[in-house]
This record gives sequence, structure tokens and C-alpha cells, in this order.
Amino acid sequence: MPGGRAIDKIRLLDAQTVNEIAAGEVIERPASVVKELMENSVDAGADRIEVRVEDGGIRRIEIIDNGEGMSREDALLAIRQHSTSKISRIEDLTSLSTYGFRGEALSSISSVSKVTIRSRTGDEEVGTELVTEFGSEPELSSVGAPVGTTVIVENLFQNIPARRKHLASAKTELSHIVATVTNYAVIRPEITFDLVSNGASLRSFRGPDRVSRIAELVGPKAAKRLTSISKQVDNVEISGALTKMDVTRSSPSSIHLFVNGRPVASPLLLSAIADGYGTRLMRGRYPIGYLTVTLSPGLVDVNIHPTKREVRFADPEHIRELIAQAIEDAFSDEDATPRFSDLMDYMKIGKAPEKLETPRLRPTVQARIEAEASESGPLSFPFEPLFQLFKTYVVATGADEDSVIIMDQHAAAERVQYESILRSLREGERRSQKLLAPSILELSPDERAALEENIEHLQALGFGIEPFGGGSFRLVSVPVVLGEEQGEKALKGVLDDIAKIGRRRSLGEEIIWKVACHGSIRAGQDLSRAQMRTLISDLLQTSNPYTCEHGRPTMISLRIGDLERLFKRQV
Ligand code: ADP
Ligand code: MG
Repeated sequence: MPGGRAIDKIRLLDAQTVNEIAAGEVIERPASVVKELMENSVDAGADRIEVRVEDGGIRRIEIIDNGEGMSREDALLAIRQHSTSKISRIEDLTSLSTYGFRGEALSSISSVSKVTIRSRTGDEEVGTELVTEFGSEPELSSVGAPVGTTVIVENLFQNIPARRKHLASAKTELSHIVATVTNYAVIRPEITFDLVSNGASLRSFRGPDRVSRIAELVGPKAAKRLTSISKQVDNVEISGALTKMDVTRSSPSSIHLFVNGRPVASPLLLSAIADGYGTRLMRGRYPIGYLTVTLSPGLVDVNIHPTKREVRFADPEHIRELIAQAIEDAFSDEDATPRFSDLMDYMKIGKAPEKLETPRLRPTVQARIEAEASESGPLSFPFEPLFQLFKTYVVATGADEDSVIIMDQHAAAERVQYESILRSLREGERRSQKLLAPSILELSPDERAALEENIEHLQALGFGIEPFGGGSFRLVSVPVVLGEEQGEKALKGVLDDIAKIGRRRSLGEEIIWKVACHGSIRAGQDLSRAQMRTLISDLLQTSNPYTCEHGRPTMISLRIGDLERLFKRQV
């Protein structure tokens, strides 16, 4: 080493500094204190936990439990770094059944706040009170106390102004606390939870099971729409309850996710849920409920960050598929939307899956169409087209005299086209129609790659594509359902799309939608009355007339009451 000077700069950090650094890892905001203290209460076997906060926890947090309590010695040890009663050997880490094990929460918290611990075990006559301020030597006294533990945390980060300044408003901090308490209340229905903010009760969870905990949050009406989700494959268990498609929110904040009993924030799980719902859910809408994943601790890392609630699965795609499948199974009776996965199986094995055999309308639409058909043959009323609006929407008479429907012509045509492609696959119809004059495909390198990668799917759909020397291709036939002009347009559009998005996992499943999309009537296109009529009746005979691929509505119904509200004739 050149000279000894560098060594002079090295100092052993004192315990308080070490704790402050650790606190930065574990304690980010008042909600992290609440999380750590609640976990300790759960680990102590409490079946009653009360959380009282002031000013969003910035001023004061108090957590009262009726768990096993701590002796004086325990309390002294508890605030020391790396002191934990939950693990002694590192091997235990893989078979941990408690939330805590790092032994750094209480020491971290006490280095950045004033901490009061009041506790008594069942064996003791008197309890202990321990007070320490920003890492100071703890003061001990004897107090009368019920069995259990109360921890009070005051003036968080007051000794670290930069961190204190970093805190959000009391309101925002409180909302994080509410979310934290709620999560544990959902996953631990055997424990009652109370949250009191500035002296007023904010949440109270008493329900005996998870579904009733959700009901306490969203009300009984929404909770009635919960469908239970359950799947077990090998050593992975998925369970939960999520609402049917008619009860949704505009954010995923009402979906409570857990991995091995720990609340997690997981984009992977959320997107798996979205996959499972497929088009049953509108874009930008989220169900309400909870989902738990239980698996061997070796297959998941829940501690990649002590506070961030992130998880990392050894095999994320497997987990995603299980969840999507579990949800699809749970909702399969709800709606007859054709299942993409089944269709792809069919394309591989060349045989129609039974599930796609009978496209089924929603009962109400079915009844209307049947009534209609028995009276006057072809569909004419309801849903008689009135006019086209902005060259994009078709306005038609509604199901009764008091309503009209407004149909998005592209979304509707896309759904119709999609289902005709399905039908042609299902019924083994002649799929392909020869072009009078084969056309050479002019492709960019990206588009060529897209074509090569998806050529089997495209051929299965009825596109006759042949290599034409020098890396070029020619199109000799198109799917019958699209016809010559739409077919060629569709192929180009699809390749262009795929090239733009790059490689995507489930493209095989999406390709049918893409073909349907590019082979359909578009917005901005003039429609004759006959075309509008055909479009409406074709749409109503699809298995899911209400949504397009993205779950966007294909049509909406406008009732006279809606107009009356808009014009303030009625409130
Ligand atoms: P960890 O939870 O990782 O063990 P903590 O710093 O959170 O570390 O807690 C240290 C120890 O203090 C725990 O292992 C436990 O023995 C004790 N302790 C903390 N909170 C409570 C409580 N509410 N009831 C009983 N014991 C507690
Ligand atoms: Mg702990």
C-alpha cells in the first residue's frame, strides 16, 4: 500500500451510526415502522393488535398487542442490533415461519426516534418499561401492564433532518399506514386489527376469514361478487378471491397480494391476474380482492429489499401461468369469450377443442335474438341502425324503446372478424383462398424476422406464404374469411405491428386478434345502412358481443334516463 495515510482515514463506525445506516435500509417512513412493529406483534402470537397514530405516524405511532410479551432482559436485548429470538442458526433461514429474523427493526427504529416499550410476559407480576431516545442508553422502570407489548415510537427521524424533510404530508403517510394495516388484516384473519388516527377509529377488522376482511373494506355488495381462486400444482399453491368483471376499480390498490404470507408489491402477479381475466376486464380496470401464492421458500426470494415488499421467483413464468390459469378456470363459466390458449392448442394439434364448439350469447341478448327470430325472421328490431356518427360509431335502436346503442364500428368489426377466424379454424372449413395473382411481399428486415418467427401461425390461419428466393416471400393465398383485399392488408398490418413491438411472449395468441384487427372495417370509413345492419347482427351473434380484444366495449347503451341526467331534468 503506498504510504500509511489511507489507513488513518478508516474508523470503526460506532453503534449509533451503524444503526442509523441500518435504519435507512429498514425504515423509510412511518408505515415501515408500523409494518415492523405489527410483524413483531404477529410473531409474538397476538390475536389483537391496535395501531394508533398521530399526524400520519410522523409525530407518534403506538402499537398495542396481547402477544407473549418480553421480560426486562428480552426488552434490553430487543433494541440491540442483530438481536432476535427467532433464529439462531443461518440454516433456519430457509424454513422460517415468522416475519422477523434479521433482528434489526427495533434497534434501527430506536436509533432514529424516541422508543418506549412497555411489556409483560405471562410469568411476570410486573411489567417493564424501557425508554430510549435516538439510540441513548435505555432507561428502565417497573410498571403495571397487561400481558403483551406496547411499543410507542415518537418523533421519527427528528435527529436526521434530511430524512425528516423527505417525509410526505401526514395525509400521504397515513394512507401508507392504512394500506399496511389492511394488508395484514387480510392475510391474518385470526387476528383483530384496529387502526386509530388522531384519536378517531379509521379501520376495524373483525371478520373471521379473508373474504369477510375484504367485505369489511369494500362493502357487502362488492364482496358478493368475489369468486374464489384456487389452484395447486406441484409445490405451488395459488388461492384467493377476486371480483367478477362487473365490480372493478381504476387502480390495482384493492388487490392484496401475498407470497408465503407476506404482503408484496409485484408487477408480475398483477400482470398474471390481468392475463387470467383476459378480455373479461376492460383495459385500465382492476378487480378487487386478494391472491396468495404459497411455495417452498427456496423458490422465492422475499427479502431482496427489506422494505420494498418486492419478490423474486426462481421461475416467474411458471408462476405467471399458474395464476393466469387459476383465474381463467375460476371465471370460465362467467363468459364465453374464446380462450386463446385453447385455440393455440388447436392450431398445434389440428383439432377443435370442445370449449369453442358453442359460442354462447349472454342470456339477455340470446333471449332477444330468439324472440326476434321467431317473430320476424332476420334480425331487424331491436338494434336497427339509425345513422353513422363521426364515421366511427353506429347509432342504432336499443333493446327497448327507452334506449339506443352506440357501437364502435372498428371494435365491433374486429370482434366479428376474430370470431369468424375462430369458426373457420374450428369447423375445419376451407381456410385459404388463392389469390388470382400472387403478390411479392416487400418486407423490412424487422418485418421479415416477424414473418419468419410467426409463419406457422399465419399459415394455420390461412395465409399461403412461400419463400421466393433471396430471402423474399410471396403471398399466394389469404384466409377465406378476410378475402383478397382485406387479407393482404391484414398480413402487412400484422407484420408491421409485430416488427414494431419486437418479440413478445404471447404473440402466438395475439396474432389472431391482430389479423382480425387489420382485416376489419376501420374508424373513419363510411358505412352503408346495409353494412351497418350486417355488422350489428354479426356482432350480436359472437360469443362476446360486448368487448373487443383489449376489453374495450364494442357498444354501449344510452338510456333516456342518462340524457335526462345530462340535461338535469332528473337527478
Ligand atoms: P426480529 O423481528 O427480526 O427478531 P426485531 O428487532 O423486530 O427483530 O425484534 C427483536 C426481538 O424483540 C424479537 O426477536 C422478539 O424477541 C422481540 N420482540 C419485538 N417485538 C415484540 C413484541 N411485540 N412482543 C414480543 N416480543 C417482541
Ligand atoms: Mg421484527
